[in-house]
Amino acid sequence: MKDQLRLLRQVQAIDLYLDERHKAKGEIQKQLLEHKGMLKALSDDIEAQRAELAETVELRSRREAELAEGMERHASSKERLMNVSSTKEYNAVEKEMEGLKKKADETREQLEHLKEAIEVNQRHLNEKEEKIADLARQIQEVEQEAEGKIAILDKQILASGERIKESRAQIKQGPLRRYDFIRSRRGGRAIVAAQDGHCTGCFMSLPPQLFITIQRGSTLEICPSCQRILYFHGDAEGETTEAQAEA
Ligand SMILES: [Zn+2]
Repeated sequence: MKDQLRLLRQVQAIDLYLDERHKAKGEIQKQLLEHKGMLKALSDDIEAQRAELAETVELRSRREAELAEGMERHASSKERLMNVSSTKEYNAVEKEMEGLKKKADETREQLEHLKEAIEVNQRHLNEKEEKIADLARQIQEVEQEAEGKIAILDKQILASGERIKESRAQIKQGPLRRYDFIRSRRGGRAIVAAQDGHCTGCFMSLPPQLFITIQRGSTLEICPSCQRILYFHGDAEGETTEAQAEA
C-alpha cells in the first residue's frame, strides 16, 4: 500500500499543479474578456455620439434651407411692395415681410448655436476616438502577451496531463476511486499526511490505534473527520512537487 500511497501523492501533486495552471489560464481569459467588453462599451458610446452629431448636422442643413427659402420669399415680397395698389395691401405685404425677417433672425440665431454645438461635439468625438485608438493598441499588446502566457500554460497542462495518466495507470481501482471521489467533492487535497497523531488536512487528532495503522502503511486509511486519505508523513520525505519535476 505504501507504493500506492506514493503514487497517489504523485497524482495529487500533478492535479494541484494542473489546478493552478487552469486557474491562471481562466484568470487571463477573464481579463481578456473584460478588456474586450470595455472596448466594446467605449465603441458603442462613440457610435451613439456619431449618430447624434449626424442628426445635428442634418438639422443645420434643414435650417439653412429654411433660411434660404425665407429670404427668397422676403425678396419677392419686396418686389410686390413696389406694385401694390392700396395702402391696405401695402400694410399686409409689409407685415408679411416683418414676419419673414423675424423668422430669419431666429433661424440665424439657431444656426449659430448649432454651429457651436457641432464644433464642440466634433472636437470631443475626435478626442475620444484618439483615446480609444490608444487603448485598443494597449489592449492588443496585452492580448499578445496573454496569448503567449496561455500557450505556455497549455504546454504545461499537456505535459502534466501525460504524466498524470502514467501515474494513474499504476494505481489500483479502489484507492483511485476514493481519491477521485474526495477531489470531486471538495477539490484541493484528497490525500494528506498524518503527523504527530493528527490529520494535516483538518488538524483533528487521530485515534492512537489509527495513527499506528497508518504508520504501518499496509492498508488504505481515511481520516474519520474529513474523509481524506492518510499517509504517514515520514514516508513522503524528500518527494518533489510537480512544479519541481517540471522544472
Ligand atoms: Zn482530516
